[in-house]
Amino acid sequence: MFTYAEAADGRHGSGVAALLTSLRDVLLPRACAGCGRPDHILCESCLGLLDGRRERPLPGTLTGVCLCCADYRGAIRRVLLEWKDHGDEECTGCLASVLSRLITEEVMSLPALRPHAVDACVVLIPLPSSASSLRRRGRWHMLSLTRLLASLLRRRGMDAKVLPLLHLPAGLARSVEASHAAQRAGRLSGGVDVVRSELERLPTMGTRPMVLLVDDIVTTGSTMRRCVSALRGVDVEVAAGVALASTPKAGIPGRPLVGRSSVIPAASL
Ligand SMILES: [Zn+2]
Repeated sequence: MFTYAEAADGRHGSGVAALLTSLRDVLLPRACAGCGRPDHILCESCLGLLDGRRERPLPGTLTGVCLCCADYRGAIRRVLLEWKDHGDEECTGCLASVLSRLITEEVMSLPALRPHAVDACVVLIPLPSSASSLRRRGRWHMLSLTRLLASLLRRRGMDAKVLPLLHLPAGLARSVEASHAAQRAGRLSGGVDVVRSELERLPTMGTRPMVLLVDDIVTTGSTMRRCVSALRGVDVEVAAGVALASTPKAGIPGRPLVGRSSVIPAASL
């Protein structure tokens, strides 16, 4: 059984995954995860779609928002499903790069964060997967993404660290396909666990760390709100949420981000 502990320790799968990737590259040439264009992990067109930035409300946080790279539809939906559920781990680098630009260009420009953005330690907390999703995928995909994201932010001169602080108790699930608000809220009614051993590391990450929740897809926002609530319960203030995509089908359309900062063309990634 694949667990949070194995994911955190990196004890599972990486060598095997690398070998399988090498074999696949020989046997099956790579194609864009979004549109199938040959010889790309993500083609420029699909990468460009990840610049359709959105803002969703996230009450209880310092900024009150979760910023998302794009709407969850079309090619972006295909990319995220390939990455999450079909083991296309080569997409992780592109997705981490897109998220790193969202943080440096948009999150750090949020008025509530500007006074702290210069020297704060950015603490990235990946949203948890359910125990059943961990077993099915054999990995905690958000932890892998967040670790790479922290690495990219450090290369951009930021002090960024990963804290896998939140787990979902066994028996609780979260699923982007379960988009009905009441259904999702009900599934998460047992709450979110805060890992005490990780919580004890937080004071070592600066006097006023900037805590960001990192998710893949925001549907109703219920999962992220539960996580904010769990963290507030242990006196951890979340600055903002960030996510790869925001689904419009939940009936809560994201507000486009326009004019707050310049957007670098995806081709320059
Ligand atoms: Zn493409």
